[in-house]
Amino acid sequence: MPAITNHMPTAELQKLDAAHHMHPFTTGDELAQKGARVITRAKGVFLTDSEGVEIIDGMAGLWCVNIGYGRDELAQVAARQMRELPFYNTFFQTTHVPAIALAAKLAELAPGDLNHVFFAGSGSEANDTNIRMVRTYWAMKGQPDKKVIIARKNGYHGSAMGSASLGGMAAMHEQGGLPIPDIHHINQPHWYAEGGDMTPEEFGLARARELEAAIAEIGEDRVAAFIAEPVQGAGGVIIPPETYWPEIQRICDAHDILLIADEVITGFGRTGNWFGAQTFNIRPDIMTIAKGLSSGYAPIGGSIVSDAVAAVIGSGEFNHGYTYSGHPVAAAVALENLRLIEEENILGHVRDVAAPYLQQKWEALTDHPLVGEAKICGMMASLALTPDKATRAQFAAEAGTAGLICREHCFANGVIMRHVGDRMIIAPPLVITPDEIDILIERAVKSLDGCLADLKAQGLL
Ligand code: PMP
Repeated sequence: MPAITNHMPTAELQKLDAAHHMHPFTTGDELAQKGARVITRAKGVFLTDSEGVEIIDGMAGLWCVNIGYGRDELAQVAARQMRELPFYNTFFQTTHVPAIALAAKLAELAPGDLNHVFFAGSGSEANDTNIRMVRTYWAMKGQPDKKVIIARKNGYHGSAMGSASLGGMAAMHEQGGLPIPDIHHINQPHWYAEGGDMTPEEFGLARARELEAAIAEIGEDRVAAFIAEPVQGAGGVIIPPETYWPEIQRICDAHDILLIADEVITGFGRTGNWFGAQTFNIRPDIMTIAKGLSSGYAPIGGSIVSDAVAAVIGSGEFNHGYTYSGHPVAAAVALENLRLIEEENILGHVRDVAAPYLQQKWEALTDHPLVGEAKICGMMASLALTPDKATRAQFAAEAGTAGLICREHCFANGVIMRHVGDRMIIAPPLVITPDEIDILIERAVKSLDGCLADLKAQGLL
């Protein structure tokens, strides 16, 4: 077999890819026909594909490359750590400096008394840790029946058996025998799609109170925790009404239910603060982290745990752990990533420059005939495509048809914007500049125009 490199013709790479590589969340046969786009390199906020085409990455990879592509400092640290200590585990009463340093740094950055870190290799693994940790917490406190976890429909928490059970995506539950027992789902605070005639404020309260109703129905002595993303990401960048989170916090406090904030997307500056918990003023007992922790340069995730929960878990043996919990290379890379975010004041850039500029440009997209709403929180944003702005109507065509058409235009126009049904979403690298935001918006508008023309031509509008 010839060496497979960036210099191979695209068609050959695609053929090998189709023959041997199974893609996540993909219809394999369809992709094999079409051929996957081969990304060969990236710098800043731009990707380059195997045809030499430059694409602006409106999704920071998968919501993770917060610091932007091509940071040599991270490569240097990874190489140095690999030479010094490429691997050692943190089981059996051992530790190493990268895991110690990263855990201490996270305890410093995390709000309140979130001072303890259990490392994992990904967000999915971390949420599986959380399921076992909250159930073990209550069992160690003498309440083994307190094990139901309440989550939300259209939430996303990962693809492992536990984390996908926490997630509320119907299509995922249809495959592989999910959910696992004792997971309960309530409705999401998605006003645009489900709010009917209520004001967003009324609707936010109503949806939060579904948690209280579920606790009453299941029994407070059986509910261990509530888990939610501060802003739903994969569900379509759903920013809850202002009334939602304060009411959720009140309910968790009133009923002795642990609150898990899944900060896999919202962590590390995405909403303008280190964590979404700070943006929404909530006090989680556990935060799930991954993605922006290392800006995607190395696979690492974890759970940041409160003093109270860690004290109980630490009182017995927690029979749980991953080979790569606190992997030294990934931990060293994450630590360097956090150092750069701080040293370069990237949160300040988000708050004072990038987010306000993006907000102004993004909200102006409501002038486009297809856009029913434009929502933004820090550096994550969504557009609802609609045939009728006044009524927030859905298209007559199957949900997602318009979104997919728009996504195809984005592809052709050199911008990565994702669609979730008929919502278009972005979460660019946090380091994006106003000039680059102009490029992103210009290509997004061109794609919306193309989508509008196609919908008209196909009689879908
Ligand atoms: N939680 C949330 C909120 C996520 O968005 C994701 C990934 N998109 C996960 C968990 C799972 O993380 P991973 O893909 O690293 O397992």
